[in-house]
Amino acid sequence: MREKRKRRRRRRIRAAGRVDGMPKFRACRQCKALTDGDICPICGSKDLTVHWEGIVVIIDPIRSQVAEYLGIKRAGMYALRVLG
Ligand SMILES: [Zn+2]
Repeated sequence: MREKRKRRRRRRIRAAGRVDGMPKFRACRQCKALTDGDICPICGSKDLTVHWEGIVVIIDPIRSQVAEYLGIKRAGMYALRVLG
């Protein structure tokens, strides 16, 4: 179990990229946030899917060009693509 990973730490977060299909995580269809729970931690949606790929971690959405490009406004872990 990796319960400690749930916490959002500002340091120690790396852009992963190669951990597609991590079985515990589902992506929100609304905002692409990844969660291992039943509710999206970002937007509160329950519309989650296991069909996603790629991970991007946004630490500072204000200054991140990646966040801007993806339209992400809040720090967190997101799927690069939601497939279905
Ligand atoms: Zn969401």
